[in-house]
Amino acid sequence: MPVHLASRLSAVVPSVTLAMNARALEIKSRGVDVFAFGVGEPDFEPPEHVREAAKKAIDAGCSKYTTVTGIAPLKEAICDATERMRGWKPKPENVCVSVGAKHALFNLALALYEPGDEVVIPKPYWVSYPEQVRIVGATPVLVDTREDQGWKLSPAALKAALTPKTKAVILCTPSNPSGIAYTEAEAAALIEVLRKHSCWLVVDEIYAELVYDGLRYVSAAKIAPDLRDRLVVIDGVSKTFAMTGWRIGWALAPAPLVKALDVVQGQSTTNATAVAQHAAVAALKGPMGDFARIRSTFEKRRDVMIEGLRSVPGIQCRKPEGAFYAFADCRGLYGLDWNGKAIASDEDVAFFLLDKAHVAAVPGGAFGAPGYVRFSYAASEERLKAGVEAMRRAVEAAKTG
Ligand code: PMP
Repeated sequence: MPVHLASRLSAVVPSVTLAMNARALEIKSRGVDVFAFGVGEPDFEPPEHVREAAKKAIDAGCSKYTTVTGIAPLKEAICDATERMRGWKPKPENVCVSVGAKHALFNLALALYEPGDEVVIPKPYWVSYPEQVRIVGATPVLVDTREDQGWKLSPAALKAALTPKTKAVILCTPSNPSGIAYTEAEAAALIEVLRKHSCWLVVDEIYAELVYDGLRYVSAAKIAPDLRDRLVVIDGVSKTFAMTGWRIGWALAPAPLVKALDVVQGQSTTNATAVAQHAAVAALKGPMGDFARIRSTFEKRRDVMIEGLRSVPGIQCRKPEGAFYAFADCRGLYGLDWNGKAIASDEDVAFFLLDKAHVAAVPGGAFGAPGYVRFSYAASEERLKAGVEAMRRAVEAAKTG
């Protein structure tokens, strides 16, 4: 029987990040040593006390359904950690714990956006934002930003993108893929524009602990307490605590919206995995020293990656302030020979690098920025150096070849 899929899927593209990862895994399965700079996940294990807490939870019989929006100790830990790390304190009724931050955003899309709604998303964007908006039949409004302006959405560009149909604006800071982080003043200027426009502001803060050069992340909720009745903060343990596979993320939102998220999640996944929720409690209550260590590890890696990328002829890269991605302008590689064909796009660059240097990375077109390639630097300094060196050699060979 032919498969007639729901028409809502016709406008949706699968995640390119995961597709590149699959291709890299396939090459790896042939015994090739692949530099995994494609996927966005830390290379280390979660802290030991987190793993211990999960083991204890299993032995203590935490194997049943929990409240849909999360166990009380986790909600309390999230509220306390938000106060400690971001300077504002939500209440447990403002928290909906989901199966990762991606799921929290998807619940939000189901609960908030509908056909006719516009959702403003600056480019380059994290791949799932526009696709989730499309899945629920709403329209993503993708706004250009410029690298020479730090890939930052300007207040004027934001103002121009807002219409009576705008249901929400999604900001990601520090950003995947560009690594930019808005300063407090920049965020305040955007918020000032939104004060005059009645729509939701969704801020994805999943990388907020990962900012460098002494920069301090200031949450939109702290900058604009007056907007909290239409503000959603997305967060989770995936990145900061290297817990991507545990699938714990959350939305902080006004209580009436959390009730709607409860309904959506209650009819889909029910609760996030009970054992993982207990592990997340331990992560959030754990020693603060972990953050400092993880942050300084990533800062060093960033410096190694940026210096390395800049040493590859044809690649230029802005130094990012946060997250763990380098977003490099690779248009200087266009025209190079790749098995008798001239490289002509960011996709060609990514597949050339995979083929010739065994470096997995993600073409920028997936994030709405063709010509660029995203390299994750969530790998050891040694691996970063070796991977970049392999790229340099592949590029030199393609020039002379
Ligand atoms: N937001 C951003 C900006 C991300 O980069 C990611 C992970 N790549 C997520 C959300 C999803 O995180 P999680 O693994 O918790 O679903």
